[in-house]
Amino acid sequence: MQPHHDAIIIGAGAAGMFCAARAGQRGRRVLLIDHAETLGEKIRISGGGRCNFTNIHASPANFLSQNPHFCRSALARYTPGDFVKLVTAYRIGYHEKTLGQLFCDESSQQIIDMLLDECRRGKVELLHPASVVSVDKPDRFRVNTSRGEFTSDALVIATGGLSIPATGATGFGYDIAKQFDIPLVPTRAGLVPLALDAPELERYGMLSGVAFDTLAHAEPRDAKAKKQSTIVNFREAALLTHRGLSGPAVLQISSYWNAGDDVVFDLLGGRDANDWLAELRARRPVISSFAKALAEVVPQRLADAWANAHTSATARDKSLADWNKAELTSVACELNAWRLKPSGTLGYKKAEVTLGGVDTRSLSQQTMAAKSVAGLHFIGEVVDVTGWLGGYNFQWAWASAAACAESI
Ligand SMILES: Cc1cc2nc3c(=O)[nH]c(=O)nc-3n(C[C@H](O)[C@H](O)[C@H](O)COP(=O)(O)OP(=O)(O)OC[C@H]3O[C@@H](n4cnc5c(N)ncnc54)[C@H](O)[C@@H]3O)c2cc1C
Repeated sequence: MQPHHDAIIIGAGAAGMFCAARAGQRGRRVLLIDHAETLGEKIRISGGGRCNFTNIHASPANFLSQNPHFCRSALARYTPGDFVKLVTAYRIGYHEKTLGQLFCDESSQQIIDMLLDECRRGKVELLHPASVVSVDKPDRFRVNTSRGEFTSDALVIATGGLSIPATGATGFGYDIAKQFDIPLVPTRAGLVPLALDAPELERYGMLSGVAFDTLAHAEPRDAKAKKQSTIVNFREAALLTHRGLSGPAVLQISSYWNAGDDVVFDLLGGRDANDWLAELRARRPVISSFAKALAEVVPQRLADAWANAHTSATARDKSLADWNKAELTSVACELNAWRLKPSGTLGYKKAEVTLGGVDTRSLSQQTMAAKSVAGLHFIGEVVDVTGWLGGYNFQWAWASAAACAESI
C-alpha cells in the first residue's frame, strides 16, 4: 500500500494539472495520475500549436450546458485576467488574434511547461503512464493502478471528453460518474465539421478550400422545435471542404446543431438583400451579371457556383437591372438565408470538444464536488459545460480547476 494523499487527481490535462498545482501550492499532498506517455497532448495541438489559452471576453453566455448558470461562480472567481497574470509571470509572449482570443506567440508547449512547473512548485507527485484499474470508496478513496494502489480523501476526475481519441481521450470520467450513480447528460461531438450528402457536395464540393465571411446559425426545420430552440448567430468565416462544411462559423454552430437541422448562412452578413440588390441595380455603369455582383461579397468561385445553383439561366444571362420582381425576391431570400442540410457531423475524431457529460445539477458550483459522494469532484471538459470556439474551453478548465483546488 502506497502512502495516503489529500487528493488524487485522475487526468493530467489542462484542468488536472492546474488543479493539482493549485492544491499542492496550498500545502495539500496531491497525486496526479495519467495513462498517457506525454502529458498535455490536447494543449499541445490546441490553437494550431499556439494554444488559444483564454478569451478576454469569457462570460457564462459563451458556454452551453443544460444548467447555464452553473459555470457562473467558477468563471467569476478565476478570470481570464488571472490566467493572463500567470502567463505573464512566466514571460510567455502572447497576442490577441481576434475576438478576444489570446494565443501564445511561440508554442503551446510553453503552457504545458508552465503547468508542469506550477505542479513542481506545489510538490505534486506525478504518476504516468499509469492506467487506473479500479476506483472505490470503502471509507476513503482507493485507486488501484497499473503501478500500485493509492488512497486519498478527495478524488478529482479531470479526464476530459471523448474528442480526438488519439490524444488519450476516454470515457473514463463518465464511467466513474455511473459507478457512483451520478447522472450524465448525453454526450455528442461539438466544435466539429459538418458533413454534406452527395447531391449538395456535387453542387458545392468542387469549391473545397473556399472560405467566406458569413453570419451563420443552426435552425430546426420543424416549426415547433424551432420555437423551442436557442438560435445563436456567429459572425465568422465558413469553409467549404471535400466532405462538407468547416471553418470557425461552422464549428461554432455545430455545437447548437442537432440531426435534421439546417445550417443557415447569411451571405450578406446581416445586410438586407433587397436593399443590397436595389443599390446594385441603381449602380452605373451597370453590373453585367449577378455572379459578378455577388463576387463583391464572397470569393468568385463561390459566387459563380452559387449563382448557377440559385438563379435561372434566363436571370443569369441578363444584367441585374433587367431582373423582374420574382427573380429578385427569390434570390434575396436565399442570400440572407442560404440553407444547407448536413447529414451529420464528422464525429469525435474531428471534434474539438464533447458536449454533455456529468450533469451539473449533481455538482456544487462552488467546489465542483458531487453532492451525493463526499470528496468526489469533476472538473474540466468531463462536466456538462462546453465553451464556444476561441479559448473558452481552456478558461473553463482553469476556472473549474481553481474552484475545486480551493476546496480540497
Ligand atoms: C484539436 C483541438 C484544439 C483545441 N484548441 C483549443 C484552443 O485553442 N482553446 C481552447 O480553449 N480549447 C481548445 N480545445 C479544447 C481543449 O483542449 C479542451 O477543452 C481541454 O483540453 C479540456 O481540458 P481537460 O483537462 O478537461 O481535458 P484534457 O485536456 O483532454 O485532459 C484529459 C487528460 O485525462 C487523461 N485521461 C483520459 N482518460 C484517462 C484514463 N482512463 N486514465 C488516466 N488518464 C486519462 C488524458 O490522457 C488527458 O491527459 C481544443 C481541442 C482540440 C481537440
